[in-house]
Amino acid sequence: MTTIVLSQQDPKFKEEVASRPGAENFKLCFTCGTCTASCPVAEVHDDYDPRKIIRMSVFGMREGVLGSDVIWMCQRCYVCYARCPQNVKFADVMGVLREMAVEEGYAPKERLHEIDELDRFCQELRCDLVQNLTKPDDKLKAKIKTKLDKHFRQKAE
Ligand code: SF4
Ligand code: SF4
Repeated sequence: MTTIVLSQQDPKFKEEVASRPGAENFKLCFTCGTCTASCPVAEVHDDYDPRKIIRMSVFGMREGVLGSDVIWMCQRCYVCYARCPQNVKFADVMGVLREMAVEEGYAPKERLHEIDELDRFCQELRCDLVQNLTKPDDKLKAKIKTKLDKHFRQKAE
């Protein structure tokens, strides 16, 4: 998602997004970029830009937003939520966009559950890796390896 295409505008889109619980404030965004500057995903992924996702939504780019892979990248850490001067609650807006993507057929309905599972897996893995960093342990290393192997085996099935 790199280009804002104004010809794709659907004027109803922003109202539909704003009508859902959690996204009521999203039109208040004044593009300050605090969310993007604070976001750990934006730091490691050039295509990920919360401010831009909001802009595209305000401009009515329904397909460009709901059909984009980037709406699944947010890890819902709530850093942007806490720092936004306009109380946009971007992490919740992202939840709304994901629900709409599933409802409108841009993503399979299992996706929401898969993303929740992935978030849980990543958090557990992070805890194990930090523990191994502070107290290296062969048993823990084997546990981490087993977890990763299992994850990739399941994804390959
Ligand atoms: S921090 Fe809030 S106001 Fe600033 S760009 Fe992000 S969503 Fe918009
Ligand atoms: S909630 Fe999502 S968009 Fe906000 S800082 Fe965390 S990863 Fe970035």
